[in-house]
Amino acid sequence: MDAAVSARENPGLMDHHATTGHGPARDLAEVAFGADFLAGLPVDDGGDPSPRQLPGVVASRVAPTPVAAPRLIGWSDELAAELGLARPPAGSRALDILAGNALAPGMRPWSARYGGHQFGNWAGQLGDGRAITLGEMQGPDGRLHELQLKGAGLTPYSRFADGRAVLRSSLREFLCSEAMHALGVPTTRALSLVGTGEPVVRDMFYDGDARPEPGAIVCRVAPTFLRFGNFEIHAATDEHGLLGALFERTLRRFFPHIDPLAPEAPVAWLGEVAERTALMVAHWMRVGFVHGVMNTDNMSVLGLTIDYGPYGFLEGYDPAWTPNTTDAQGRRYCYGRQPQIALWNLARLAGALRPLGADDDGLQRALERYRDAFARHHREMLAAKLGLLALEDADEPLLAELFALLAAAETDMPILFRGLSGLPAGDLHMLLRAALYDERALDAALTARWQAWVERWLARAAREQQPPAWRIARMEAANPRYLPRNYLAQQAIDAATAGDDAPLRELLAVLRRPYEEQPGHEPYAARRPEWARHKPGCSALSCSS
Ligand code: AMP
Ligand code: MG
Repeated sequence: MDAAVSARENPGLMDHHATTGHGPARDLAEVAFGADFLAGLPVDDGGDPSPRQLPGVVASRVAPTPVAAPRLIGWSDELAAELGLARPPAGSRALDILAGNALAPGMRPWSARYGGHQFGNWAGQLGDGRAITLGEMQGPDGRLHELQLKGAGLTPYSRFADGRAVLRSSLREFLCSEAMHALGVPTTRALSLVGTGEPVVRDMFYDGDARPEPGAIVCRVAPTFLRFGNFEIHAATDEHGLLGALFERTLRRFFPHIDPLAPEAPVAWLGEVAERTALMVAHWMRVGFVHGVMNTDNMSVLGLTIDYGPYGFLEGYDPAWTPNTTDAQGRRYCYGRQPQIALWNLARLAGALRPLGADDDGLQRALERYRDAFARHHREMLAAKLGLLALEDADEPLLAELFALLAAAETDMPILFRGLSGLPAGDLHMLLRAALYDERALDAALTARWQAWVERWLARAAREQQPPAWRIARMEAANPRYLPRNYLAQQAIDAATAGDDAPLRELLAVLRRPYEEQPGHEPYAARRPEWARHKPGCSALSCSS
């Protein structure tokens, strides 16, 4: 099906196949980095990377720390084409740039100062502790892209840590950024994954057993990596002039249709951030993505999924599930709570905009836009997942029974939804056996309940009088067949750690087309194997990265 048609028929889905002008591939080392978001804003210009409090600035100039032996492990051909960049050969200056060993002309690297609410509490100054923006470059279509290295060494915001990142967490960010883009979920992107040839010491299980692991650097790409926390820090420290300056710059660059000096600007902007966030979270719920650490410093003002850490995709359906072992007790950031947490985070951003003269009623109305937009997108996406034109209030019991059935026995949500599009022609019993983690749970009673539900659902769909092919296409465009399940990522990590990058390449190639049947790649679509249930990294993960 043509992408434009699919987007039109699925208004809830982003046009994730939007084409961009592809020019001749350029050598990164020869690209001019001219634009600078920071121009004219108060910046710590000294270049001193020693960790410290930095009142009075929005960012610090800081250079990446060189590494011993850069090796290109992952490369996104698709993003590179959008940027007009050539794949860097081994030993090239371009590869050195992606490793933090060299700069392209015009690059003036910096790290941002931001704060954040972590697990519900104000945490003070955080900032880019291991992220360094190299600069902004123009793609062949004229759009500007910020290139940022993650894991490139100490910055003034590194606090007690080392500014580095391990291969396992970097590969996960690289892979999932690109997979989410292909899924049609708003996200920051990843261009490259470079092994540093240097060890990084981490206590992966937080049990006192710190060990050296291979280090790596991701080059990630977005229009901007600004977070809610970039605004919160200036409000929290009464830096109202700075807050206003950052606000004005952000709107002029990324929200040019809002006049930043108009009295209603903060409310208008918050409303827009709210709507973008609502769309992002609705997509997360659609594909079963659990971010894992929805602190306000991990919330992008562009409504992009940002900072991939202990994330996961829902396998067995369970609204209380979180992949983040650090959050296993409170489950603040579990799957089912993500919509309300996003609103809580937006309320913190609203609080940070008060010093700009925004009135509370206006801010409250802007937050309401989140509720409305989330409810609308969520309904549209659920309708698409079930192959319906639109959900009606009378569908509530049908939905309730579906989610009750999914929860009645551990059932793989992606497999189940994807498989529904094959009914009634397909075999419901076979689908249930593929989706249930313990086939013994599939007794006569559960089977009968599923059968009854499917009959009700198909009768409901038939009332809309759409051709079956329409329903199937709508469902297949909303229910991915291939996802970057944690155990798949872990297999690619194990191989890359042993020097074999082919499994990552092959996995990424499959994940580029998540909605298509890909004969020969069925194992990537299967439910998580039992050996992976408790193996570290394969289902749950710690924050150690
Ligand atoms: P995260 O939970 O990864 O979003 O990180 C929270 C804060 O800790 C951010 O300010 C990060 O930059 C910082 N941070 C995390 N890991 C490191 C590290 N290895 N070195 C320096 N800063 C880090
Ligand atoms: Mg973060």
